[in-house]
Amino acid sequence: MDPILNYINGEYVKPSSNDYIDVIDPAIGEKYTVVANSNKNDIDKAVNAAKESFLEWSALSIKDRSNFLTQIANEIEKNLDEFAYLETKDTGKPISLSKKIDIPRAISNFRFFAEHAKTFHFESKIDDDNSSNVIARFPLGVVGCISPWNLPLYLFTWKIAPAIISGNTVVAKPSEISPLTANKLGEVLTEINFPRGVINIVHGDGNSAGSEIVRHPNIKAISFTGGTNTGTKIAQDSSSTLKKLSLEMGGKNPAIIFDDCNYSNMIETITKSSFSNQGQICLCSSRLLIQSSIYEKFKSDLIDSVSKLKIGDPNEVDTEFGAISSKGHYDKIISYIELAKKEGGNILTGGDSLNIPGRCNKGYFIAPTIIDSLDNSSIINQDEIFGPVVTLQSFDSEDEAINIANNIDYGLSATIWSDDIEKSNRVALNINAGVIWINCWLVRDLRTPFGGMKQSGLGREGGDYALDFFTEPKNICRSL
Ligand code: NAD
Repeated sequence: MDPILNYINGEYVKPSSNDYIDVIDPAIGEKYTVVANSNKNDIDKAVNAAKESFLEWSALSIKDRSNFLTQIANEIEKNLDEFAYLETKDTGKPISLSKKIDIPRAISNFRFFAEHAKTFHFESKIDDDNSSNVIARFPLGVVGCISPWNLPLYLFTWKIAPAIISGNTVVAKPSEISPLTANKLGEVLTEINFPRGVINIVHGDGNSAGSEIVRHPNIKAISFTGGTNTGTKIAQDSSSTLKKLSLEMGGKNPAIIFDDCNYSNMIETITKSSFSNQGQICLCSSRLLIQSSIYEKFKSDLIDSVSKLKIGDPNEVDTEFGAISSKGHYDKIISYIELAKKEGGNILTGGDSLNIPGRCNKGYFIAPTIIDSLDNSSIINQDEIFGPVVTLQSFDSEDEAINIANNIDYGLSATIWSDDIEKSNRVALNINAGVIWINCWLVRDLRTPFGGMKQSGLGREGGDYALDFFTEPKNICRSL
């Protein structure tokens, strides 16, 4: 495969340093191409292109910008199978997931913001007896979007779509581990004659390309999704240029399972919420808190349910559980499993790498792993592992469950399982997390706020929250 180049001002261009990073297919453990590693010169070029296109793009009507977003969505949809194939090649996720979740959601991101922006308060009015105030919201200018490898196109477009519909122009960097679908997005933009310079896609690692975006004086805001350590560094590095920040970071999400829940629905969904995308979704449940009256039954039923997952070559249509997305991440997960054993954890199932015969026999596979006998204060229960590893803890009372759930630095999401509406609402209000699901998981209305509390996030994405972030209000007051 040809080297993956930057897409700046509507053209594919080589990185100025001619420096490239290997891109590996994690399901087979082999390099298949290289991706540009951009430096300051490349980021300068991308920012200049974005700056030059800003006046014209921001002057378009919402309707015109909306039409462009719809065209992007249509063109991705036309090429859905190829996008899905590339997403799976880059990440090792099952092709069914790429086809049913990742790429359709990228399409919806553009379609959703194309429509939602038409109802947004770009201009509003507040009057009293003395004054009339017009509040007009303006785009910020050039904004930076930085995204991770776990849901590559899904999260990349979740930032780009609200940024551009609001009139901003963008310098966007996907993860260096999963650049393929972002690269293909450039082809889509060329195909539909999308205005040059509005979306510039730059590649490279965090310390060069990412950091240059964050420090750039002409970039007005950073929308970032990734790890908490990186988000913290971004907050530090952007401070001297005073940027607006939206930081979506790590999680260690509790699932609180009461004995009065719809049991079979719960087991089925908990299996998904724990192990979808090999546990590499920031919203995955990783600490399962189970009421003691059903603890033993839950334990054996979950092990049984997980044993039925079809693990294998991500390209096979019926595979439900694929490879870990990179060797570095695979090593990190294995080292956490070893640590769990040292901390006294009892490995109930999994706990090791997996050998998949055939094409994938050198791939990075780890068995779905369930551990119990660890206290909530253990490292395994406090650190984000971001892989197919969950722990079980039992609780007796509602208060105890809430305490365990909240006793952590993260606060991204939680699920609550109970048919008692009052109790589940009470627990939801007491959990310190930005996204709570009762009797479900990953159900998303894109108008609702998305983001975390504590070390999991700063700001919210979704609907008006994203459009607020990507615009700045001006109040014009007239005396009456
Ligand atoms: P990461 O933080 O290592 O990298 C994310 C992105 O930031 C990549 O594009 C990377 O190149 C870039 N980057 C790295 N260092 C940088 C720097 N100093 N300056 C600017 N950019 C830099 O995260 P990852 O390993 O790609 O993704 C996994 C993490 O993402 C997990 O912690 C997961 O919880 C989190 N995540 C959070 C959400 C959410 O919505 N809260 C969603 C998905 C993933």
